[in-house]
Amino acid sequence: MKKADYYELLGVSRDASADEIKKAYRKKAVKYHPDKNPDNPETEAKFKQVSEAYEVLKDTDKRAAYDRYGHAAFESGGGFGGTGRGGGFHDPFDIFREVFSGGGGGAGGIFEEFFGGGRGGGFGGGPQRGADLRYDLELTLEEAATGVEKEISYRRPVACGHCNGSGAEPGSKSMVCPTCGGHGQVTTSRGFFSIRQVCPDCEGSGQKIEKLCRECRGEGRAVTTSSVKLRIPAGVDDGSKLRSGGNGEVGAKGGPPGDLYVVVHIKAHEVFERRGDDLYCEVPIKFTLAALGGNIEVRTLSAKANLKIPAGTQSGTVFRLRKKGMPNLRSGHYGDQLVRIHVEVPTSLDSEQRRLLEEFAIASGDAREPAGPAGKGFFDKAKKFFE
Ligand SMILES: [Zn+2]
Ligand SMILES: [Zn+2]
Repeated sequence: MKKADYYELLGVSRDASADEIKKAYRKKAVKYHPDKNPDNPETEAKFKQVSEAYEVLKDTDKRAAYDRYGHAAFESGGGFGGTGRGGGFHDPFDIFREVFSGGGGGAGGIFEEFFGGGRGGGFGGGPQRGADLRYDLELTLEEAATGVEKEISYRRPVACGHCNGSGAEPGSKSMVCPTCGGHGQVTTSRGFFSIRQVCPDCEGSGQKIEKLCRECRGEGRAVTTSSVKLRIPAGVDDGSKLRSGGNGEVGAKGGPPGDLYVVVHIKAHEVFERRGDDLYCEVPIKFTLAALGGNIEVRTLSAKANLKIPAGTQSGTVFRLRKKGMPNLRSGHYGDQLVRIHVEVPTSLDSEQRRLLEEFAIASGDAREPAGPAGKGFFDKAKKFFE
């Protein structure tokens, strides 16, 4: 069977420009694409043929070879040896995706969108994932210790309700971009150079919306207040980031939404200072208790705990209450509570207290005879005590 002429397949003249060839291929490829013609071997063969034709004619060297030698240029052992690929051609679907993605990555989604129909915007540009959003959440230390459920409200761009996110006024159609004629690119001349640029009018999509949505003016999104229920796990720390999947900004052109990141801030606590999973606190005790020993009640984050103070406890001594700290976010194991003792010395004494302390001072050998007669009374009194 004689192989069809590449130019005839695409329906272009032999002196067609690269843009004309691309445009012609686009039309034919969409017409014959298997997604539009399921289980039709005839159109599938056509689809492969036009893809092959385009693969040759889009390439200056291959096109020149074809113009000189015809199909023989690409047959094994033929005149066109430059590519080293013999007669092999690319997968027609690769060619198709290449054209419809405009060269930018992530072609799959555009492809689906184009054939899925309904959504405005058309091809090119591509689906874009929505941006991630940040929410700063303040928690008490108690909430961080137990975990908590919080409902938060925040401003969030979502798909416009009026146009369903398409940006087109309902009922209006999309049309071929008049600026670039649907190519998605424009060529400008600067001196000797021709520069191809993404069409500024349609941003490379080749399509324009006939009438912009009156609610969002073509943006496709609107900002609303969204509420999300968050489950805050026990053990979060200041600066912990929690991800709430899909609750960020809405995606563009069918792209997935971004995520919401909740950044935790722990309010300063009146009693406890947190270091990792441990909690620190300072507890004042009377100097008599420090000397004599005894039991005290110490506040913990959830309740109270008994702490035994041994006789002779010094100021600055640290006691450890096992597992009374914060739970670890990952392991769930509890840290400790560390209690630093501050021994309080009375700031004022009545006469009775003073007398007893003076006696104590003599008994423990702490009192010395002061210089001068002013101190004599004290010394005498002390002597009398031991007679
Ligand atoms: Zn809208
Ligand atoms: Zn355009």
